[in-house]
Amino acid sequence: MDLDEYRRAARSWLAENAPDTRAEGAPDAGGVAAAKEFMVKLYDAGYSGITWPREWGGQGLTQAEDRAFAAEAQDFVLPTYVFSIGLGMCGPTLVDLGTDEQRRRYIRPLLRGEEIWCQLFSEPGAGSDVAALQTRAVPTDGGWVVDGQKVWTSVAHHADLGLLLARTDVDVPKHKGLTMFIVDMHAPGVTVRPLRDMSGRAHFNEIFFDGVHIPAENVVGKVGDGWSCAVTTLLHERLSISSGVGMGGQKDNPAAFEALRAAYAGPGGATDPLVRDQLVELYVRSRALALFNQRLAQETKAGIFPGARGSAAKLLLAELTLFQADLATSLAGPEAVAYPGGGGGTGEVGGSAGARLANAIAMAPGMALGGGTNEIMRNIVGERVLNLPPEPRTDKNVPFKDLRTSGETSAGDGRLA
Ligand SMILES: Cc1cc2nc3c(=O)[nH]c(=O)nc-3n(C[C@H](O)[C@H](O)[C@H](O)COP(=O)(O)OP(=O)(O)OC[C@H]3O[C@@H](n4cnc5c(N)ncnc54)[C@H](O)[C@@H]3O)c2cc1C
Repeated sequence: MDLDEYRRAARSWLAENAPDTRAEGAPDAGGVAAAKEFMVKLYDAGYSGITWPREWGGQGLTQAEDRAFAAEAQDFVLPTYVFSIGLGMCGPTLVDLGTDEQRRRYIRPLLRGEEIWCQLFSEPGAGSDVAALQTRAVPTDGGWVVDGQKVWTSVAHHADLGLLLARTDVDVPKHKGLTMFIVDMHAPGVTVRPLRDMSGRAHFNEIFFDGVHIPAENVVGKVGDGWSCAVTTLLHERLSISSGVGMGGQKDNPAAFEALRAAYAGPGGATDPLVRDQLVELYVRSRALALFNQRLAQETKAGIFPGARGSAAKLLLAELTLFQADLATSLAGPEAVAYPGGGGGTGEVGGSAGARLANAIAMAPGMALGGGTNEIMRNIVGERVLNLPPEPRTDKNVPFKDLRTSGETSAGDGRLA
């Protein structure tokens, strides 16, 4: 099938199958069941994992098909949010670093939406400095026993599996004693408590591990090599956040250029030259980021490692998101703070345009934190792209057990990719 035919087929499939939902984001259990049904259909039609290796369940196609599908999908609202961590971070990490057995077991169900994944890195004292984490994994018969706490874990309240970073050796410096594991989120000893954010909904959670058993075959990469595995995940995280993997199309964001243009610059609208200027700036910044992401994706496919430039893309998206939220707020006026049907303790966004816009504005600052803060992204770009002198890291060669408390001694080099 040539690319035009592929594109036409994708469009007609989407027109027939994409549900018309406006409550996407943090769905309730019913919403998740519907999202899972949609993912099975998406996979069976050949549109999930378009560029992923065929031998592990992907479609084995090229970036051209991927881009063609993504371009068509922009016009629809796809209920893929709960799969975004698996599709954007955990799955690509397993493709890169998993054993063949792990790839065979996990990739296909992930792409079909049969299993939802979460990423268990951050802790109360280890966010920017994630290598300071305290969750311990101790060897036992046939595997490991895990005790500790994670926090800000997106979609964990719906997750079946998680990619966990835990400390397996306290006698070596903090970056060297970590190991990555696949953890069953339904295992005895795992407690998931949703945390409500300022949008009124619960997107992320705190997680407690009390004597959780993990089988030996669930180690990802090598024991003690968790930091380099985490760097792989973080690289995928930044690329997937900036390119919007699993986050639905532009129609999903009522503060994005298209929605604001339609609402405020249609016939008779936006006569104010300042508003017009800001809309043009939003368009230019959105388009520049889309092209930058496209270039990174093409390079990745061609075997050119994007490295720290993924952090630049993530930083640009965070700044764009804040800019468009500010613009939307000034254009919408009182509507931007109206929350009819939003929150209310239900965890769902009301269906009105005002509620959706208010929710998008409330969620915008989170983009400057999740996946690494803007300050950390700037550190990475400064050190790894511009070759500026690195921050002093006094704890780099100190055994973890000799650090005063994790988090306190850090120079914040965690989440460096
Ligand atoms: C919406 C959202 C979803 C998330 N989802 C997940 C998830 O699924 N899984 C997961 O593991 N984590 C997740 N996180 C956590 C996220 O990765 C952390 O919040 C982030 O890394 C920052 O860590 P922290 O909150 O502990 O802040 P801290 O690290 O305590 O930072 C506090 C402030 O100090 C600044 N700072 C810290 N160190 C430096 C430095 N060296 N130089 C300059 N400034 C510095 C930071 O920029 C920030 O402004 C999520 C967060 C959000 C907001």
